[in-house]
Amino acid sequence: MQLPTQGAYVIIGAGVHGLSTAWHLAKELKARGRGSGEDIIVLDKTGVAAGASGIACGVIRNNYFQPAMRQLMAHSVSVWESDAEAFAYHPVGYMQISPEVMHADVVQIYKEQQAIGYPSTLVEGEHECREYMRNIFDDWQAENITSILHEHRGGYANNKASIRALAAKAQAEGVRIHTGVRVTGLSLQDGAVKAVETDQGTVRCEHLVVAVGPWIRDIWKMLDLPQKITVKGPDGELYHDREMWTYWSLQEGVLGVEPSFLADNEGEMPSVIHVDTDAPLYDENGELITDELWGIYYKPDFYFNGVQGGATPYIVDQPADEVAVDPYGPESPDFVVGEDFARMWTSALAHCHKRFEGKGHLFSREPSGGIGCFTPDSFPVFDVFRQNAYVIADSNHGYKMIGVGALVARELLDESQELLEPFRFSRYETGKLHPTSNSPFPWS
Ligand SMILES: Cc1cc2nc3c(=O)[nH]c(=O)nc-3n(C[C@H](O)[C@H](O)[C@H](O)COP(=O)(O)OP(=O)(O)OC[C@H]3O[C@@H](n4cnc5c(N)ncnc54)[C@H](O)[C@@H]3O)c2cc1C
Repeated sequence: MQLPTQGAYVIIGAGVHGLSTAWHLAKELKARGRGSGEDIIVLDKTGVAAGASGIACGVIRNNYFQPAMRQLMAHSVSVWESDAEAFAYHPVGYMQISPEVMHADVVQIYKEQQAIGYPSTLVEGEHECREYMRNIFDDWQAENITSILHEHRGGYANNKASIRALAAKAQAEGVRIHTGVRVTGLSLQDGAVKAVETDQGTVRCEHLVVAVGPWIRDIWKMLDLPQKITVKGPDGELYHDREMWTYWSLQEGVLGVEPSFLADNEGEMPSVIHVDTDAPLYDENGELITDELWGIYYKPDFYFNGVQGGATPYIVDQPADEVAVDPYGPESPDFVVGEDFARMWTSALAHCHKRFEGKGHLFSREPSGGIGCFTPDSFPVFDVFRQNAYVIADSNHGYKMIGVGALVARELLDESQELLEPFRFSRYETGKLHPTSNSPFPWS
């Protein structure tokens, strides 16, 4: 397909955000008689689902300590539910299983979920939690658990299938998706983006949408935006020279067993499970791995062909500029699942369920995981820069956020969206930051 020389809306990135925006924008334009999908061009240097969206673990949950994140997630779950089959969405629910240090946070999340009508069950107390879990898995044995938040919506979806479904929905509305086209620069005129330069020619545009996942660092630079910023902390102090982008490595893996190995007591597929605990963690040989707070998540998954999940990520100890993002994720020659991760994650599975004891050797050596690009407070930035460049920088929260594109589409048509307000870039300067939780994960 010949690359057009102009389009009213040019979207960079054919991941969850670029394609969801394209699909919803096409529908909005048509509904308002203001155009159609043909006014929208999506450019991707590689292909549909070539980035983080195509390798995501696929977990969809509401469980966030930050009220603004929770509301956004509730909105996105409705989009997942709107066509579960096409999105390969499995609404099995989600469980946050926590130690005492997180108890109060979890109670607060539960209360606020009740307030917004998001269905969940709260279980409190060590004995009660064990009973609740043993009613689901009779071999449950995790220690130091004093609260469980069981969300009855959410679950997981197949990463690539859902993104391809979004692409098909966008194309059915007339959106043109051009793959194998790399954006190499932006032309600005009078402070606004006038054209996108690519390795295959220039495309003039009226609006630009940037949805490039972990490559945001590069387009941010093309927009001539600051690499370091000042952040007003919760204490009212100004913190200067904070890095705008920081990379974290997300470690994930698969235990090579039949997915049904993790069936519940009824023989059914269980909810996605996330366990955090401060109980000491030992490996198969009885050697201590950690006596600090640790966390894992896992689910039986037919797409990954086993029990799949991950653990707490770690910061990539390099300046953002030096991090190799291309090629991405498992495609990257540098990407290997560390022995430490395999030992920790499989030992943690055995800490939680007796059935995983002695199964560490079944850990799959297939490369898995990837890197995420995080903002200074580890929450998304959804905002307009240079007058007409809409940046969707989800700080690696985003596969589950399939509904953000619907809101961005409305903002592109000048309808400001309350759900997106808490994610403006100005919050760093004004100090209107999101509250932080006691979770060991940067995205909870
Ligand atoms: C291992 C891992 C597991 C994860 N698991 C989950 C999970 O379970 N649940 C969840 O909610 N989130 C998860 N995430 C986070 C989630 O995957 C991302 O936040 C989300 O997919 C980002 O979507 P995106 O559309 O912004 O970017 P991407 O999906 O990365 O898409 C960006 C696209 O932009 C293209 N691109 C980049 N630069 C250019 C350029 N210069 N020119 C043209 N095209 C360009 C890329 O080729 C790519 O296709 C996970 C992330 C990782 C790494």
